[in-house]
Amino acid sequence: MDLRESAADRAFREEVRSFIAANLPQDLRDKAEKGLRMHVADGQRWHKILAQHGWGAPGWPKEHGGCGWDHSRQYIWEEEMALAGCPPLSPFAVKMVGPVIMGFGNAEQKARFLPPAGNGEHLWCQGYSEPNAGSDLATLRTMAVREGDNYVVNGMKIWNSYGHEADWMFALVRTSSEGKSQEGITVLLIEMKTKGISHRPIITIDGSHILNEIRFDNVVVPLANRIGEEGKGWTYAKFLLGNERALIAQIAQSTKLVKRLKEIGARELSDGQGLIEDADFRAKLAAIEVELEALRVTNQRVLYEAKTGTAGNGGAILKSKGTFISQALSELMLEAVGYYSSPWALEQLETGWNQPPIGPSYAKNAMPLYARQRANTIEGGTEEIQKNVIAKQVLGL
Ligand SMILES: Cc1cc2nc3c(=O)[nH]c(=O)nc-3n(C[C@H](O)[C@H](O)[C@H](O)COP(=O)(O)OP(=O)(O)OC[C@H]3O[C@@H](n4cnc5c(N)ncnc54)[C@H](O)[C@@H]3O)c2cc1C
Repeated sequence: MDLRESAADRAFREEVRSFIAANLPQDLRDKAEKGLRMHVADGQRWHKILAQHGWGAPGWPKEHGGCGWDHSRQYIWEEEMALAGCPPLSPFAVKMVGPVIMGFGNAEQKARFLPPAGNGEHLWCQGYSEPNAGSDLATLRTMAVREGDNYVVNGMKIWNSYGHEADWMFALVRTSSEGKSQEGITVLLIEMKTKGISHRPIITIDGSHILNEIRFDNVVVPLANRIGEEGKGWTYAKFLLGNERALIAQIAQSTKLVKRLKEIGARELSDGQGLIEDADFRAKLAAIEVELEALRVTNQRVLYEAKTGTAGNGGAILKSKGTFISQALSELMLEAVGYYSSPWALEQLETGWNQPPIGPSYAKNAMPLYARQRANTIEGGTEEIQKNVIAKQVLGL
């Protein structure tokens, strides 16, 4: 595998840059420049613009409306989007449920669900975790009981991201309590406006409403919304988790943060000279950058080997290293902006804030980012679980 960027890749990078320069709406560009918070609606709007250009689902094969790009093009696309400050796209549709539907759904499901998932029309969320089923996911208890042509679902999901804004959920439900707990799990696609679904917000330490508790009270889900076979959901769930972990590694976003820290380091002073000249700061930033470069190469390798569409156990390696890097960068960001990170004024992150700025524009997101990144080593499976996967599945210990 040749890791160097080919002439064709460099030309592609230019094409992506030109596309973003010409098509990213000015108000979103302003938000990025001012360090304001991007919301789901911003990402969805940008996704639709990309989809009009045929770039809605880069990793999907062309037959399903994707771009059919290889791993290096996908990475270039993501990196350029992050560097330009484009709103992040929701991963649930394109990177998570899409590949599962392609791999295990029937023809009718592919025709029905893939186009609106790939073009940003439908927002999706993930219904895996429950109050007593996180790391030990197979113990989940949300029940789906067969009644004629439907399942009737009762139970509860927790830590559900964006369920209050999503159109659809891919959910793990229990259809049998017999045998091993993994064997009674089924995947259902559930429309969020179905009668009997309610949610309660969970506000996180960074002041965001992203997470929810979701309740199902006699929610009727047509049999036609079941992916694959009843009781085989654990296989599909694991396929999806490999991809989820790979994306939580946030390599493109960390690349952007390194660049930002260098810019901040040139502007902030330490003992009368640029912070970037400070030996301690330089050493810390250099150490993270080296780790990030190694991770970028590992990511290329995992994507290259994952031509079948899943990052598999490689996702655990990427997540473990990637979240260590993203947390280290968020800590360095606090160091770089110093006391300007102390005021907790989340209103500064929203459009319309018209009070005098507290410190330089790049300072206001430092503390919320630091707080948000604490969750990185929990979401998608905790660090301990990734280490268990690496030990058992990758190293065979
Ligand atoms: C920001 C955020 C977003 C999320 N979004 C979603 C979402 O959209 N959908 C969804 O379904 N879930 C979501 N989650 C939930 C996430 O997947 C779980 O929090 C995670 O899997 C851990 O489960 P838990 O919280 O129940 O912790 P537990 O499983 O109770 O773990 C508690 C502690 O015990 C440790 N531990 C547990 N088992 C082992 C073991 N075998 N070996 C060693 N240590 C162990 C863990 O590492 C952890 O430190 C989200 C979580 C966060 C923080």
